Amino acid sequence: MTPLTSASLRPETRAVHVETPSLSDARPMSVPIYQTSNFAFDDPDALVEAMAHPDGDFVYTRYGNPTTHALETAVAGLEGGAGAVASASGTGAISTVLLATLRSGDHVLAQRQVYGGTFALLTAFADRLGIEVGFIDGDDPAEVAAALRPNTRMLYLETIANPMTRVIDLPAFLAAGNAAGLTTVVDNTFATPLLCRPIEWGADIVVHSATKYLGGHSDVISGVTVFADERRRREVWRHAIELGACADPFAAWLTIRGIKTLPLRIRRQCANAAVLADRLAEHPAVASVRWPGRADHPDHAVARGHLADFGAIVAFDLVGGRETGQNLGKGVRVARLAASLGGVETTLVHPASTSHRQLDAEALAAAGIGEGTIRLSVGVEDPDDLWADLAQALPG
Ligand SMILES: *Cc1c(COP(=O)(O)O)cnc(C)c1O
Repeated sequence: MTPLTSASLRPETRAVHVETPSLSDARPMSVPIYQTSNFAFDDPDALVEAMAHPDGDFVYTRYGNPTTHALETAVAGLEGGAGAVASASGTGAISTVLLATLRSGDHVLAQRQVYGGTFALLTAFADRLGIEVGFIDGDDPAEVAAALRPNTRMLYLETIANPMTRVIDLPAFLAAGNAAGLTTVVDNTFATPLLCRPIEWGADIVVHSATKYLGGHSDVISGVTVFADERRRREVWRHAIELGACADPFAAWLTIRGIKTLPLRIRRQCANAAVLADRLAEHPAVASVRWPGRADHPDHAVARGHLADFGAIVAFDLVGGRETGQNLGKGVRVARLAASLGGVETTLVHPASTSHRQLDAEALAAAGIGEGTIRLSVGVEDPDDLWADLAQALPG
């Protein structure tokens, strides 16, 4: 066979076939970005074998890729799972899990405060696919048994819920779901595996919007699903390759890069959140503060039972109500007005006029969200700078 580097090949051929350098003993410190859709084989039998067992050798990046696989291994390790499937986004991870696990006629029990996009997905599946959805408040694990139907298949929970930082008694709800033989799914985006590992409390599946804390730098959209057992991972992965919300190698690489500093960021962000929550609580323009680490948070005792720290989302209610809430974003200089969260930058948003604008006053109240509620995602900046910024922006 003519070597691809051969000078006898014409430029049109040589331009296409750039040789992949082979490294002998040296190994790259950082996981390389395998920006390739395809993998070439020297041995035809090896390709036949790889096609027959697509979970084995890499063949095609929608099925698997070394960079996305490195991300899967990293997050599965942090969560204490058997394996993981990386996705194009948190929503891609969640929709894949739901579509891979549920069939029409099944009933899902979900926590009422789930992420808005998850609520929209569940509602759409209920409308169009004949999947039944019921919601539980999350106050008492006995709600699970009370809501069970013969067709109930899944219990869907979140570790810390948006925007009011609701923390349900996760171990007790997972125990109730498992006792009923349900597939238990936990969105662990807000807690990250540094604060809670739901598999250790009995979860079957953990989903992440890696866009938030895992990535952590507001530069990537990415998702990961972790499985307690390998059989379920294979089952969901088989559907994941059909559904096609697969991870992109570069996005996976950015997420891996973010994860390296996850413990440092989380420690700092939780510590900053503690400082800001306490200072906000003493400010005359602030009616109330919700941060699970404060003794006055309704779920504080529950959170202490299974969270290593209390997260970096702080919700607070402004005395001035809707108008004051909507205007706070104009006054801040360090914190940024932005809809997303979990990055190194502190961001804030007024849910009543943005993420939850479809809710009228009554529905807002039912969700526990005030007209003047602000959701603060605390970053890694200096806490005194953050406080000075908020203090000058709050109505005097
Ligand atoms: C953002 C978010 C999602 C959706 O993730 P994307 O990466 O935006 O698709 C799901 N769950 C929670 C808790 C989130 O915060």
